[in-house]
Amino acid sequence: MTSCRLCGSADLVSVVDLGSTPPCELFLTAGQLDEPEVTYPLHLRVCTNCWLAQIPSLITPEETFTEYAYFASFSASWVEHARAFVADAVERLKPSFVVEVASNDGYLLQHVVERGVRCLGIEPSANVGQAAKDKGVPTVTEFLTPETGAAVRAEHGPADLVVANNVYAHIPDLIGFTEGLRALVADDGWVSIEVQHLLTLMELNQYDTIYHEHFQYYTVASAQRALASGGLSLVDVELLPTHGGSIRLWARPEGVAGEVSDNVARVLTREKTAGLHDLSGYADFAARVARVRRDLLRFLIAVADEGGTVVGYGAPGKGNTLLNHCGIRQDLLAYTVDRNPYKHGRYTPGTRIPIVAPERIAQDRPDYVLVLPWNLREELSAQLSYIHEWGGRLVFPIPHLEVV
Ligand SMILES: [Zn+2]
Repeated sequence: MTSCRLCGSADLVSVVDLGSTPPCELFLTAGQLDEPEVTYPLHLRVCTNCWLAQIPSLITPEETFTEYAYFASFSASWVEHARAFVADAVERLKPSFVVEVASNDGYLLQHVVERGVRCLGIEPSANVGQAAKDKGVPTVTEFLTPETGAAVRAEHGPADLVVANNVYAHIPDLIGFTEGLRALVADDGWVSIEVQHLLTLMELNQYDTIYHEHFQYYTVASAQRALASGGLSLVDVELLPTHGGSIRLWARPEGVAGEVSDNVARVLTREKTAGLHDLSGYADFAARVARVRRDLLRFLIAVADEGGTVVGYGAPGKGNTLLNHCGIRQDLLAYTVDRNPYKHGRYTPGTRIPIVAPERIAQDRPDYVLVLPWNLREELSAQLSYIHEWGGRLVFPIPHLEVV
């Protein structure tokens, strides 16, 4: 990677090098275990000019998202999050036309339809977009670019509110995507974006959320600059607990934006204090990541030496960054379980740990369950409390090793 994708500067500094791993959603079938597996470097760097943290774009979104297996509506808590957002935004902004980019299966826009407000989803995966249409959510199959944004505006009119959740990290052409948002939104309209916050990623050692589908990682400072690259001005920000710590950015076209809110100033100050607007905050991250790895491996090896058993809970994308980076194989983690039947009988990419149904835990009564989706800690602690019946314990690897 020779230059920053936002500002073009050549001054990129290494934050953490996680080695080379396969794409984190490519779960293997039994038949693929004897075949070679392609890996890609996973090296996070930060630009010392605009402070955008980024990895090289080695996998295109077209490869990942044209036929996609993720349906947002499977997560009840995410659908509720979207419902609450729509209730608030429609009440406050009173839009007559809402567009959502990466609208998935209509998990959010279904609530806009319910309120009788005209809307349109823009979703690149045809199979996922079809699920939205089946719910009565109008959807076009497109990637957002300046051209497709302009075409949607010409056909459907400008949007009073444009929503883009969990997509701003997934697009290597970040300037083109932002210009696309500007093309969609009315000249006096609003854009709302939710994306993971680099501040919590750094503070809480969430290094497993770094994977190939996430091309960049935002502070509010770098997001503000990214928005400006497409003619949008940041006016407000909210801090959200989703994905271990996210930001909801509110932006408007330049010229109507007015003054930025106190919230923006407050979060910028927190980022600056954490050293994320200079190199100091990044300097020890690689050492903290190495510590997470050593602590987890030391624990797993000690349990194995004593003849104990450890199994995993969950097979999320981020679990695969952790398993690959730590070099954990079946001798240290017998299997992992997942609620998604698509993954049953498959193996984790790179580390080839079998994935089975959750019922297996109650049958086998392992000594420890390593929780890979640590962002659902509260929910899973309750759901897995039955393992305490036989003295089983839960293991959380991040932000630092905890056995409870
Ligand atoms: Zn830059």
